[in-house]
Amino acid sequence: MRQKKSIEDIDLQEKLVLVRADFNVPLDDGRVRDDARIRAVLPTLEYLLARGARLVLASHLGRPKGRSVPGLKMDPVAERLGELLGKPVQKIDRVVGPEVLSAVKELGSGEILLLENLRFEKGEESNDRDFARQLAEPVDIFVNDAFGTAHRAHASTAGVAEFVPAVAGLLMKKEIEELSRCLENPQRPLTAILGGAKVSDKINVMKRFLQLADHLLIGGGMANTFLAALGYSLGSSFYEKDLLDKASSIIRESEESGCRLVLPTDLVVARELEPGSDSKVLKPEDIDGDWKAVDIGPETVKDFGTFISRSAMIVWNGPLGVFEVPPFDQGTRQVAGEMAASEAYSIVGGGDLVAALEALGLTGNIGFISTGGGATLEFWEGKDLPGIQALQDK
Ligand code: ADP
Ligand code: MG
Repeated sequence: MRQKKSIEDIDLQEKLVLVRADFNVPLDDGRVRDDARIRAVLPTLEYLLARGARLVLASHLGRPKGRSVPGLKMDPVAERLGELLGKPVQKIDRVVGPEVLSAVKELGSGEILLLENLRFEKGEESNDRDFARQLAEPVDIFVNDAFGTAHRAHASTAGVAEFVPAVAGLLMKKEIEELSRCLENPQRPLTAILGGAKVSDKINVMKRFLQLADHLLIGGGMANTFLAALGYSLGSSFYEKDLLDKASSIIRESEESGCRLVLPTDLVVARELEPGSDSKVLKPEDIDGDWKAVDIGPETVKDFGTFISRSAMIVWNGPLGVFEVPPFDQGTRQVAGEMAASEAYSIVGGGDLVAALEALGLTGNIGFISTGGGATLEFWEGKDLPGIQALQDK
């Protein structure tokens, strides 16, 4: 990947800067329930403010699909951001147009204006050229700090860069640096852990890690698909029937790649996906009837722990069980504990895995936690992300 310019490489004094942030936060009753994504952008905003820049901020929130949706207005974000920055954040009910132009003109050095939800406008997701031009119109510089949407070619991530110089914010820069570490000169042994529901979401990243990593540990629902491909019937477990061939071909590929593919040797099975449901630990060959595999078992945790303790670098995407329903979060919890206790440099990504680790209070001693879900996967797959590609080369 080419080196991209960041805000550290340009003059910002008194400049009007459009910052694309990822303020797509969960709301509760008109208030921000979890402000992690807002906090992630603060270093960039503080850096810009300290240099006297005038800030226009923009983000999407939820999926309004090109229409105004009252419950998805950006006002709660403006309020929370103002509290975090300790200074007022003006909010305007428009994304582009004459009202925005005149509000931007009024901005003084160090002042902040938050635009309305980008996705209230049809032109955002369709990457409409005229809409992108209007977004760029009032500003001197475009700063993209929304790594989580960098895999989308939208007006505010890609299109806008045609009309105004585009550089990375500090979060974007850090994401690129950290996620590149396992792709370029990884520390070895490199262990990749992949979990989550589906093989189909992660097949390309799996193939990439087969080439890059020394060990690939598989858990979660996707492990069921691999075990089914090996011929286990697995009772009533979730797996992807139409992915069995792909799973078999990955197993074959692993035999030639020099990357050791490690599947669960025991599983926690339950009758229902409910807290307190009947559960027990079985070998894959013993699962039958209405039992479902919902987590990796203790022997597998131990096995994964051994690979982790021998690793110099670990990358992990996707939870290893149905973590939303305790006690089926145990596998994820214990493997996270092994990782935290190891000397290895760890990089973690994936919306659900990160949420699980946060809920379990296990985010300490992790080298880097990515803010991306789909963007992180595509980055690791080796795809060019439109939101990164659009930035100026260094
Ligand atoms: P991430 O967002 O971290 O990339 P995914 O979205 O791929 O993760 O997968 C998360 C989902 O996978 C969770 O909702 C979890 O309940 C589910 N999951 C994990 N293990 C299993 C399993 N054994 N059976 C069914 N679903 C599972
Ligand atoms: Mg997910």
